[in-house]
Amino acid sequence: MMEVRPDLAKVLVVDDTPLNRKLQKNYLMEVGYQVILAEDGIEALKKIREESPDLILLDVMMPKMDGFQVCRHIKHNFRTRYTPVILVTALNEIETKMKGIEAGADDFISKPFNKLELLARVKSLLRIKHLNKELQSKIHLLEKAQKKLKKLAITDGLTGVFNYRFFRDQLTKEVTRAERHKKQLAIIMLDIDYFKSYNDTHGHPAGDYVLKTMAGILVKNMRNIDLTSRYGGEEFALILVETDKASAGIVANKLLRLVEGYKFNYESTQPNGKITISMGVATFPDNGKTPDELISQADKRLYRAKKEGRNRVVLD
Ligand code: GH3
Ligand code: MG
Ligand code: MG
Repeated sequence: MMEVRPDLAKVLVVDDTPLNRKLQKNYLMEVGYQVILAEDGIEALKKIREESPDLILLDVMMPKMDGFQVCRHIKHNFRTRYTPVILVTALNEIETKMKGIEAGADDFISKPFNKLELLARVKSLLRIKHLNKELQSKIHLLEKAQKKLKKLAITDGLTGVFNYRFFRDQLTKEVTRAERHKKQLAIIMLDIDYFKSYNDTHGHPAGDYVLKTMAGILVKNMRNIDLTSRYGGEEFALILVETDKASAGIVANKLLRLVEGYKFNYESTQPNGKITISMGVATFPDNGKTPDELISQADKRLYRAKKEGRNRVVLD
């Protein structure tokens, strides 16, 4: 187990009696702790704010504000609640201890001080604090990793848009929502024209560049509440919430023109001289009431867009 280096730990001694402060200070400094002092509760809280001690030795009987009150303040503040507090009691009274525990104290020592006991308790609490800190930072790392994993699980690795699985999940949710609120919903299935030709002529990495660029164009031009996903290969699927056929047609045609106008590398070798896309649109509830129906209806229209000459949108 890792030892806590005393010379790195800062201990606050709170006591209204000068002799008690001096005694504790000497014991602690002898083994290398940094020591700061406070004469009463108010000063203690000020020192805690300003100097963030690692541990607090807190006298119970003090004028103005007693140790229980100070302890409660420390334990109610999210910044200091993990700072160990040792209550220093005049008597070894069970009632005092119970009250101390209620106030959130971590340990007790009684006067007159026993030097070895005091040092042992300080050491042991600092060790726990250190372990707790390590634990907190590990939990933090774990949570970060978990977030990253969650994002990875719903993201397409090549293009960074959502993946097929997430598209299906969201479509199910959105269909349910649209049904409940009596709203429409549109999906667009989008496929790159003659993409095989581009891949065969310029190679897979060049094809990947087109896919990534295409995803960028889509994301940039869709509303934030809509969803862009890679359905597979060179097909993308879009969900447009609260959107009817006419509005979906406007969005699809805008995308069509944007892609047509975009200058992709080497695109002049394509059969129609440029990279273009074909799209099929289906809307809830008119074209389908389930995700499967909507996808198959959009697919059908996409197929017709291909057959009718590509670089077009089929709505009905
Ligand atoms: P159409 O106009 O009818 O859609 O013709 P097409 O050539 O686009 O259609 P087809 O389905 O025959 O070809 C799709 C091609 O997409 C096949 C493959 O070379 C390419 N492809 C699929 N996934 C990827 C990928 O992840 N990266 C790259 N570079 N190419 C891919
Ligand atoms: Mg294609
Ligand atoms: Mg295809």
